[in-house]
Amino acid sequence: MANLENLYREVIMEHYKNPRNKGLIDDPSYHTKHIKNPSCGDDVTIQSKCNDGIVEDCRFEGSGCSICCASASVLTETMIGKKVETAEAIANNYLRMVSNESIDPDIDLEEAEVFAGVRLFPARIKCASISWKAFLDTIKK
Ligand code: ZN
Repeated sequence: MANLENLYREVIMEHYKNPRNKGLIDDPSYHTKHIKNPSCGDDVTIQSKCNDGIVEDCRFEGSGCSICCASASVLTETMIGKKVETAEAIANNYLRMVSNESIDPDIDLEEAEVFAGVRLFPARIKCASISWKAFLDTIKK
């Protein structure tokens, strides 16, 4: 499994160095949620815009550790273009995965599967979770 772990680490570092959909948009049709993780200084804002039951756009801004920033970047790529109900199901499944709870194998986590190893590091669960929790908040409005 060592090679797979290396691959996962590479994907996470690649998103950390080259974040996708970073930078907020000043547009009232976006819903915004700011969330912090004081235990390691993570500070993230997530924005999403839904239209006709589809997540049309998802963006983030913030700073923090590599797990936090990379998980926000992967979140935005995973969610754009998804049906809102699918996006919600994926986010809930992802949060179960990183919390070491049983997941629904029928819900495809796509690239977010690279964070599966987080469950082995309880101190990092919050780092990997906050962006996804913030996203869920933005689509519930
Ligand atoms: Zn962190």
